[in-house]
Amino acid sequence: MQWGVVGHEWAVATLAQHIRVGRVQHAYLFTGASAIGKHTLAVAFARALLCEEENAPCAEPNQCRSCTLILAAKHPDVRMLAPVISGKIINTAKIGIEPIRELIRQFSLRPMETERRVAIITDFEAAGHAAADALLKTLEEPPGNSIIILTAESAADLPPTIVSRCARMALRPLQRAVVQSALSELWGCAPEQAELLARLSGGRLGWAVDLRSDESALEARAQRLSELRTLLPAARVERFAYADELRKDRSALVATLDLWGCWWRDVMHVAAGASTALTNADRSADIRFAADQLTAADAARAVASVRAAQARLERNANARLALEVLLLDLPHISIA
Ligand SMILES: [Zn+2]
Repeated sequence: MQWGVVGHEWAVATLAQHIRVGRVQHAYLFTGASAIGKHTLAVAFARALLCEEENAPCAEPNQCRSCTLILAAKHPDVRMLAPVISGKIINTAKIGIEPIRELIRQFSLRPMETERRVAIITDFEAAGHAAADALLKTLEEPPGNSIIILTAESAADLPPTIVSRCARMALRPLQRAVVQSALSELWGCAPEQAELLARLSGGRLGWAVDLRSDESALEARAQRLSELRTLLPAARVERFAYADELRKDRSALVATLDLWGCWWRDVMHVAAGASTALTNADRSADIRFAADQLTAADAARAVASVRAAQARLERNANARLALEVLLLDLPHISIA
């Protein structure tokens, strides 16, 4: 493990090389699925840039003052900016223009403690046009010794003018075994818990780490899978009533669609006779029962329908309509 980052070895090696040969770029964009390690990598990079030890970043994070302050998000030369979540019914995450302007203003000043200024802006897709435009000018003419690190799920969600000015690093999901051993060795998970979380995580270590101490999240997953079980044989009117409830809570809605997509992919694999391990192995009886009633093509259509609903929601389409379309598309089957 380099820089205290689990996995993503090539990204760490590339960034370390940039520092070593004095080719650190003014702007970086780290992309990849949520909770995959983008922010962790950005913080490690900031430490490597500002660490006071010879062998930066120091092995024990509290070895030097810079690393300690960066990890506590209190370093005067490292600014961290994340979207502000608001809204009662539908949560929206926004990066406003004011925090971006403030960041640019600070970037024009000399660093206070070190040689460089670093900004880490998380989930930059949450920035509106005006905020992105404001940052663009700084990316075009960066003040000396300043480094801006943006993270986003996908470069496609950002203005091309922003993307083209950044050195891009696309992070991939970690292998299941890597997540599993990190959970048991670094986070002290029991073997069965590490196995289950690693399997469900889809290679997103941060997701698994968040869930390990969150019983309610695993309960919510079980609840959502049970709801899908009752929904599949249900008539249209019941399905629509469910859609109407679900659309009221954006985060539950997103989590439910993720889970459904994953469940249907399991059904598709079984229906196609593939020997891949099921992600939702604890639901294998339900998955096999569903697969017995469908062709692989039916199951693939269900996967595609869930994906289409997710895409509509990402484009901020009407949530109820997107869900109703999905629930009309999903096959009617009974699960014993
Ligand atoms: Zn250090």
